[in-house]
Amino acid sequence: MKTLLQARLVNNPLGDPGLFVEFRYEKRALLIDLGDIHRLPPARLLRVTDVFVTHTHMDHFIGFDRLLRVVFGQGKTIRLYGPVNFIENVKGKLAGFTWNLVDRYEESVNLEVTEVHPDRLLKATFRAIDRFQPSNQHELSFDGKTLLDEETIKVETAILEHRVPCLGYAMIEKPRINIDKEKLDVLNLHPGPWLSKFKQMIQENEPGEAETLEVMICDEQGRRSEHRSVEELKRELVVITEGQKIAYITDTVYNEENSERIVNLVRGADRFFCESPFLAEETERARDRCHLTSEQAGLLARRAAVRNLHVFHFSSRHTHQTKQLIQEALSAYRPKSNGGPTSVG
Ligand SMILES: [Zn+2]
Ligand SMILES: [Zn+2]
Repeated sequence: MKTLLQARLVNNPLGDPGLFVEFRYEKRALLIDLGDIHRLPPARLLRVTDVFVTHTHMDHFIGFDRLLRVVFGQGKTIRLYGPVNFIENVKGKLAGFTWNLVDRYEESVNLEVTEVHPDRLLKATFRAIDRFQPSNQHELSFDGKTLLDEETIKVETAILEHRVPCLGYAMIEKPRINIDKEKLDVLNLHPGPWLSKFKQMIQENEPGEAETLEVMICDEQGRRSEHRSVEELKRELVVITEGQKIAYITDTVYNEENSERIVNLVRGADRFFCESPFLAEETERARDRCHLTSEQAGLLARRAAVRNLHVFHFSSRHTHQTKQLIQEALSAYRPKSNGGPTSVG
């Protein structure tokens, strides 16, 4: 079964961190982190609806200008999410330009910004037509993890420690309802609009015993409609496919409390993108800079029982040791003795 989301790093592991996540069946994409994004062509950037920023250190936020440049004048609304002080950071970026003529352009671009606090979300909108003066500022309650909850996906976060709050993210595809086509034939059921109605009924609620649906039958006696039990159709026809989970962790320190938060967010991910700037022997340096070592990335992946580990955000001092960084992460993730799950560097 094909996954709904397709994720790839924006740059190679020595470049600025960032993950571009495209929807397979729509012209839509999500972006985690806004560092150097020049490798993403404008056509790709124009698909971005939501941007999840981990924190606003330069290598994670300097691409804001590039994104704004590309989407300006396209009549889009982009949602941006970030940690404490994020609204001020966006305001500061926008204040760096002169906007005296923007009110001549209708619907040029709207930015809906969400700032994540442990117990609440602060919201502000910046519209080009208002010369990017903030509007609609308000506060929402927050369950501490859910940022986006749509029909097909969910995005969760955790606030991590990097001497400033830094957000980790997990994108979760919801289970998908598929129809067993062979079974349709066996039961002489003819596909038609009733199938979408049926899927919708399954999605919305557990069908009651008495609930029926008008279906199309096609057999040797010809084509006709008949009422059938929804519960029975569900038993016969529906195949539920579990969705994929993609997790992204960068710029954070290794300690028990933080590791616990990471593992809770990342647990069971199919693809885990984890920073690995330093070598296993550099624990002191990593702690001092509030980053992870390769070995720590591997240990987190192992503890969270992820299916694939991808390490990135290598320190430029290790340009010639990238293989070592990958190998150290993988051997901590999958000790040789037990074979463990498959992994990718
Ligand atoms: Zn940082
Ligand atoms: Zn960084």
